[in-house]
Amino acid sequence: MRKYYGIIVLLFCVKIGTAQTENSTYKNDSTILKKIADDVMTNGTAYENLRYLCKKIGPRLSGSTGAEKAVLATKKMLQDAGADTVYLQPCMVTHWVRGAKEVGYAVVDNKKIALQITSLGNSEGSGGKLIGADIVEVKTMEELHKLGTAVKGKMVFFNIAMNPTLIQTFSAYGASGVGRRSGPSEAARYGAIACLVRSLASNVDDHPHTGATRYNDSLAKIPAVAISTSNAELLSANIKAKKKVQVFFKNNCTMLPDVLSYNVIGEIRGTTYPEEILTVGGHLDSWDLAEGAHDDGAGIVQSIEVIRAIKAAGIKPKRTIRSVMFMNEENGGGGGNAYAAFAKEKKEQHIFALESDAGGFTPRGFTFGMSKEKIAAIQQWEKLFYPYGVYELRAGGGGSDIQPLADMGVPVSGLRVDSQRYFDVHHAETDIFEAVNKRELHLGALNMTALIWLVSEYGL
Ligand SMILES: [Zn+2]
Repeated sequence: MRKYYGIIVLLFCVKIGTAQTENSTYKNDSTILKKIADDVMTNGTAYENLRYLCKKIGPRLSGSTGAEKAVLATKKMLQDAGADTVYLQPCMVTHWVRGAKEVGYAVVDNKKIALQITSLGNSEGSGGKLIGADIVEVKTMEELHKLGTAVKGKMVFFNIAMNPTLIQTFSAYGASGVGRRSGPSEAARYGAIACLVRSLASNVDDHPHTGATRYNDSLAKIPAVAISTSNAELLSANIKAKKKVQVFFKNNCTMLPDVLSYNVIGEIRGTTYPEEILTVGGHLDSWDLAEGAHDDGAGIVQSIEVIRAIKAAGIKPKRTIRSVMFMNEENGGGGGNAYAAFAKEKKEQHIFALESDAGGFTPRGFTFGMSKEKIAAIQQWEKLFYPYGVYELRAGGGGSDIQPLADMGVPVSGLRVDSQRYFDVHHAETDIFEAVNKRELHLGALNMTALIWLVSEYGL
């Protein structure tokens, strides 16, 4: 029996020993996180960097002078943040131009009503000529397919509202986005002359929201515009009342050949495993209508803040941390593709990539696109995040800029924020600096820094 007592006592000691190590590691980690958090909330520069990006530069559509200026500005911001090396990575990007502002109106029973319209990104315009026709409203893609050639010579009006019962607004955005993404080509398939799309917005107001459409190259590229949600409601009500509704508009947008641009990269080199790379990023380009504050100025300045916060905390990360400002997410993905292609060509060892591209709102959690085992390992850190308002570490996606890395098998993650107000301003002229709250923005940045630091310390 004595022998067994001995073993039991020994096991007990080992257990206590492990628990003590675990406890002291936890305490140590939580102390470092607190240091990072206090510093970001007190000395963080993300908000002021965002002000610069929005107010001094403004819209940053790929191929525009705004985008060029943003490359140079964020290069300097990364240098000021204390990155060991800062460099530009060339990438070819989409060059779509809007041209002169769109003009549109409806004629309802002979009465003219001005419409708030904006061309869909990547669409072709009417060449400045006024075009007009009767409109046909559809609320699903299936309705269009049922109508078929009945829409010939007409304008198809995709009135697909975001579903208010979906609390995760990104799900509603994804589901309703079919009209914007493929509506123009599907309408062209049946001979429609143009396309109107209800703005993908969760509120009803007078601001049209743009966003990329994707033409099917084997079909006619008909002009396509988004209309404000208030206009969409108005047109729909008149159609329901059996009134004759026609719409007229002219726009001048067109697609030009791709141009050279850059991803901007700032790096802190790892001390122990420098060849193991962690990426944290957002996208530097924005739509041309607004300042791109939430989309995605927020993700950019947060990713720069990760570098500043780690340097400020005096941490020497074991693995290499790269803050990446991706170009061309909105209408081409040139930056994300170039980054992954470069990683493949150089046989870089990417162990983790995190993206913030859901707005600069209060963080709620992170989603992870990786094996169950890796997610389980990360979930052990969950309690470390509780003091900073992050309660959920769960399976899910990363972000479109890091999707090409995910496709190569790199574990990815996305910052998840309170998404209730995002689609009020997303891709509209209302996405301005004033729509971002400093504490919410910095809270996101500190949680990103915490996650990046933990992965850099323990690997994945
Ligand atoms: Zn975005």
